[in-house]
Amino acid sequence: MTQALINDNQESISEAPLYELTGVTRTFTKSGVAVNALRGIDLRIARGETVSLEGPSGSGKTTLLQLLGALDTPSTGHILFAGRSLENESDSVLTDIRSREIGFVFQQFNLIPTLSAEENVAIAMVPRESSHDKRKARARTLLTQVGLDHRLGHLPSSLSGGEQQRVAIARALVNSPEVIIADEPTGNLDSTNAGEFMALLDDLQKQFGVTIIIATHDEDVASHTRRRIRIRDGSISSDTKHSDH
Ligand code: ADP
Ligand code: MG
Repeated sequence: MTQALINDNQESISEAPLYELTGVTRTFTKSGVAVNALRGIDLRIARGETVSLEGPSGSGKTTLLQLLGALDTPSTGHILFAGRSLENESDSVLTDIRSREIGFVFQQFNLIPTLSAEENVAIAMVPRESSHDKRKARARTLLTQVGLDHRLGHLPSSLSGGEQQRVAIARALVNSPEVIIADEPTGNLDSTNAGEFMALLDDLQKQFGVTIIIATHDEDVASHTRRRIRIRDGSISSDTKHSDH
């Protein structure tokens, strides 16, 4: 057997998936009517993968991201995250998982308008890092990595949409999470900024090895990711991997 084959085998045995979902459903009740937002999702995502979740509005993308982000729990089914079962955890354990292991990026950027770029990133470290100087140094390093070393003192209102989303990415990376979960992150960006944002994510994935999951209804955005999962009416309709990434 060649060395390459041995390595492949070892990898497939030792590398447990980051996420393993089995029969996951999520039902909401709206004005007495049940809405089946997710209808039996079976899914494995490996560490270090970059995955897009594509689907039209209302297909269940945000609902699935909220489950993956430990912001919500399934109605039925099982979710393993890094080997831990999420569906029976207490709120305090889920809060801890979210703050240590998951970085979120949103369509609206969600920066604090009265804080500078540097302060927006630094404040996300408050629960973990008590030294003000260390928070500041790490915020500067991350903002430099996303190409914003010349914007440290700027308020969000004086940054472009593309720049604000890069601050949000720096903030999401600050506690060295296992996974970045991004819900329509390019929804408020033009196509040039969207392309630059996706290229930046790709760089950061390579640099930090972080897993990235992006919900989008934009075909161009999804085409940047190696693995594309399509959702229709709360079910996975296709799941494809492209080798040319
Ligand atoms: P997407 O992000 O793909 O646009 P969502 O996951 O937001 O889709 O929504 C999927 C379905 O679940 C939609 O029919 C939506 O109306 C419904 N839904 C989502 N969240 C709630 C909620 N909190 N209460 C009631 N219905 C909801
Ligand atoms: Mg959504």
